[in-house]
Amino acid sequence: MSEPEHVVVVGAGLGGLRTVEGLRRAGVGGRISLVGAEKHLPYDRPPLSKQYLAGEWEHDRIALTTEDDLDELGVRMHLGRSAVALEPGQVELDDGTTLHADAIVLAVGLTSRTLDGGPGSARLLRDLDESRTLRDALGAASELLVVGAGFIGTEVASTAASRGLRVTVLEAAATPMARVLGEQVGALAARLVREGGVDLRCDASIASLGDDGATLGSGEVVTADEIVLGIGGQLDLGWLEPTGLDLSGGIPCDERGRVDGLDGVWAVGDAAAWTDPRHGDRPRHEHWTSATDQAAVVAADIAGTDPPPATVPYFWSDQFGLKIQLIGRPDLADSVLPLHGEGFADDGDTGGPIKGTAIGYLRGDELVAVAGFGAARRVARYRRPLADGADRAATLEFRDSLG
Ligand SMILES: Cc1cc2nc3c(=O)[nH]c(=O)nc-3n(C[C@H](O)[C@H](O)[C@H](O)COP(=O)(O)OP(=O)(O)OC[C@H]3O[C@@H](n4cnc5c(N)ncnc54)[C@H](O)[C@@H]3O)c2cc1C
Repeated sequence: MSEPEHVVVVGAGLGGLRTVEGLRRAGVGGRISLVGAEKHLPYDRPPLSKQYLAGEWEHDRIALTTEDDLDELGVRMHLGRSAVALEPGQVELDDGTTLHADAIVLAVGLTSRTLDGGPGSARLLRDLDESRTLRDALGAASELLVVGAGFIGTEVASTAASRGLRVTVLEAAATPMARVLGEQVGALAARLVREGGVDLRCDASIASLGDDGATLGSGEVVTADEIVLGIGGQLDLGWLEPTGLDLSGGIPCDERGRVDGLDGVWAVGDAAAWTDPRHGDRPRHEHWTSATDQAAVVAADIAGTDPPPATVPYFWSDQFGLKIQLIGRPDLADSVLPLHGEGFADDGDTGGPIKGTAIGYLRGDELVAVAGFGAARRVARYRRPLADGADRAATLEFRDSLG
């Protein structure tokens, strides 16, 4: 497209801010508006379940930008305002303002899933205000119940345990983080959580959840002063339904983030389902680096400059003193392959030391992902074989070359 006169970015989180910065870096000189439902300037979410929740970091440490930086970028902010309608060429806000634009970027992220009939006192964790409230609440509590052992749930459990709380985690699946890691590698994660002093109950069924805790299907009662729902994020795209897009899997985009059938509209981040040209599907990544990488691609596409090189999806989590890392697409895998360390053996045994363990994920014969537990240097080396689509034999040869 020719250089836009006005770009409107909806969503003032990571993806939105990085898009704005990328546009200016790519030389876009026209007007840029950034619309954000929250009243805060863009901030970083990963610390909300880690250092910020632990009370180790304050707000200034998680700020992604400042008013001065945004002034310098020449960005018009609309904070505390939600976009409520979209048509190609215009976005309507909840105060009735219509912003006309020749390029619109949707960077709206997710909201927390909730439980129908769950107690009103159960806490969620997606934004800064929720993290601040939870951090204060944990200060006055001694027992925490976390419902859901996804990454955010287990990170909250880790942080709360490090603050001295007695923590129980209830998970409906057979292992924690199973949606992302799969159940075999999830078994190793289960050990990590349990060795961290948390009472992790998998295959748990909850008969009822009240202000004081949960009653399990077995009749057992788990008491708690505080309850956190960590049952994942969900799309909140009702306002885009009049566009006629199929939004069930996220905002459907091509491999440059252009939204299907809507000229001049792009999407990035957690809510965006980009075409993966390599595998021919449209995954949505709830990863910090994906939002950043996609923002760079979209900024270049709008500016008409060369796109940055393609990247391999990357996710990390810090919990129980270890960094869990994941590169690639484990969702595509049909088998796993022990690579390094002693935490995960060929026969699926997960009894050895967890730290230093790295596991490959194969689809057929092709390496599609690598997960590591406290194995950062090793895991990083696998970007190249993943990008090359190494087969099993080449992966093992590569592993042996790392010593
Ligand atoms: C507690 C927590 C811990 C995490 N830890 C990790 C981690 O360790 N590693 C990792 O890789 N990833 C982590 N993530 C995920 C990572 O933070 C996200 O992938 C990233 O923030 C996605 O960026 P985004 O721009 O898509 O969405 P967000 O950063 O969520 O920003 C979206 C913004 O859009 C706003 N918005 C929504 N709808 C509208 C609307 N209609 N109008 C205006 N504004 C709107 C929202 O209020 C929000 O501020 C974590 C996330 C959370 C919540």
